[in-house]
Amino acid sequence: MRSAEEKILLSHGNGGKMMHQLIGNLFLKHFASEALSEQTDAAILAAVTQEIAFTTDSFVIDPLFFPGGNIGKLAVCGTVNDLAVSGADPMYLSVSFIIEEGFPMKDLEVIVVSLAEEARKAGVSIVTGDTKVVNKGKCDKLFINTAGVGSVRPGNRYVSKAKGIQPGDLILINGSIGDHGMAVMSVRESFNFRSPVVSDCASLNHLIKEILDQSQGVKFMRDPTRGGVATVLNELAGKTKLGIEIDETALPMSKGVTAMCELLGFDPLHIANEGKVLIVAAEEEAGRILEIMKKNPLGSCGAIIGRVVDDHPGKVVLKAETGGKRIIDTLTGDPLPRIC
Ligand code: MG
Repeated sequence: MRSAEEKILLSHGNGGKMMHQLIGNLFLKHFASEALSEQTDAAILAAVTQEIAFTTDSFVIDPLFFPGGNIGKLAVCGTVNDLAVSGADPMYLSVSFIIEEGFPMKDLEVIVVSLAEEARKAGVSIVTGDTKVVNKGKCDKLFINTAGVGSVRPGNRYVSKAKGIQPGDLILINGSIGDHGMAVMSVRESFNFRSPVVSDCASLNHLIKEILDQSQGVKFMRDPTRGGVATVLNELAGKTKLGIEIDETALPMSKGVTAMCELLGFDPLHIANEGKVLIVAAEEEAGRILEIMKKNPLGSCGAIIGRVVDDHPGKVVLKAETGGKRIIDTLTGDPLPRIC
């Protein structure tokens, strides 16, 4: 157990004795991987025979802890999901910490433990990393950067490129929308709803692998993080020069998110998700993909939420519960900064 008083000091990042203690007692202890334990300046990794996907993401979420996770778990899920929706099996992660002087060691350990646990669940190895400590006030508590490498099976190299999409194709999602953004918001604003909102933060690589292994029908997939479902679908409509129609009654949404969005005037289609994937598939294949999805706990509330259409090319239109239609635009401005 670490004492509540133990804090990160500038000397934990200076390359000397205290930094080595921090690395040994915290990072190496929890991130246990062969490449990392060699403590070389760069990880030496086995060659991959297939194409690789490579991505990076920085995490500056505020607050660091939220219902359903913390910045450590999020730093794994975000990068793992970007690899997975690109058709890659995530293999290696790098993790860099930028820590503000005075940050509680106890909190850092909780974050490191969840990061390690999520990496294990996702089946990725943390093979290299870095630690910097900056003076008090020079960064806000803690920032994490992760980069990830995955191997792309040849059959999956087009799944993120939106090729061959045509009118009639269906759009699927693996569960309720807006949970992450509203969970973070609920902590910031200290809301006390009867149905508390929990972030959907999760690594989707196993679910996505199950789908890609059993179906050749995925034409496009992406994780609707910042900017939400609306932003991904608008990009897709723009790229394909086709229209997209979303059916409001089919959109899975939790009671808590519905209540918060109504109260705060947010459109749930613009709210960030951290454990969701949008998939476009041919009509005859969509039902099968939905079945595969629903067998996985991370897809049990999956649904077909809309379709690709000839009408209104380049635009996303919501068919409202009331029968009317309205255009759903890309998010402008940032109503929820530092959400990831
Ligand atoms: Mg992404």
